[in-house]
Amino acid sequence: RFITFEGGEGGGKTTQLARLAEDLRAAGHAVLTTREPGGSPGAEEIRRLLVTGEAGRWDARTEALLHMAARRDHLVRVVWPALAEGKVVLCDRFLDSTRAYQGYGHGLGRDWVDRLASVVIGDFAPDLTLILDLDPAQGLARAAGRGDAETRYETLADAFHQRVREGFHAIAKAEPGRCRLIDSSQPKERVAALIAGQVRALLAA
Ligand code: C5P
Ligand code: MG
Repeated sequence: RFITFEGGEGGGKTTQLARLAEDLRAAGHAVLTTREPGGSPGAEEIRRLLVTGEAGRWDARTEALLHMAARRDHLVRVVWPALAEGKVVLCDRFLDSTRAYQGYGHGLGRDWVDRLASVVIGDFAPDLTLILDLDPAQGLARAAGRGDAETRYETLADAFHQRVREGFHAIAKAEPGRCRLIDSSQPKERVAALIAGQVRALLAA
């Protein structure tokens, strides 16, 4: 089973993913946790190209291509082998981030991103996608408080992050079978409980 965590900055993806992994392992599942961009040695090298340097270093299409190249390497080297071994794979960001950030945020459009994705990864898709939804102003404040200044993107204008959020909303609406939109302004415990419920339902199915 392939489960992805999505959403804007500071929504709690990384925290909730770690927590879910712990719960699933305690319940006896074999779990692999990973992230994008990155998750394999090659893809982590590409991540460095993406998150360092000045904003606007890459034009939007080039940026999307780098994300997709990293994704292909990550899938081939890490995700697909783990799924073949029967593991539950939890991934911090996946294709929906490219749709939301490059498609909606940078204006390439979801269709452009989807066409690229279909060439590079075919119709492979997560079984479940948890979108942790938060007002960008709150999310950016949380991300800033955490102080990981690795991410030049986090300084992009409010309007950009608003478009990213609207992108995630549109994705959730278009694919209700796969996606769950979770209000991440709720207490962490509540968010964790909602996630656990969704994942239990998936694994029992
Ligand atoms: O989720 P994480 O903080 O690791 O993401 C690293 C940075 O890359 C973030 O600032 C995020 O906004 C950005 N990003 C992006 N486009 C993507 C995926 C991530 O701009 N498709
Ligand atoms: Mg994170």
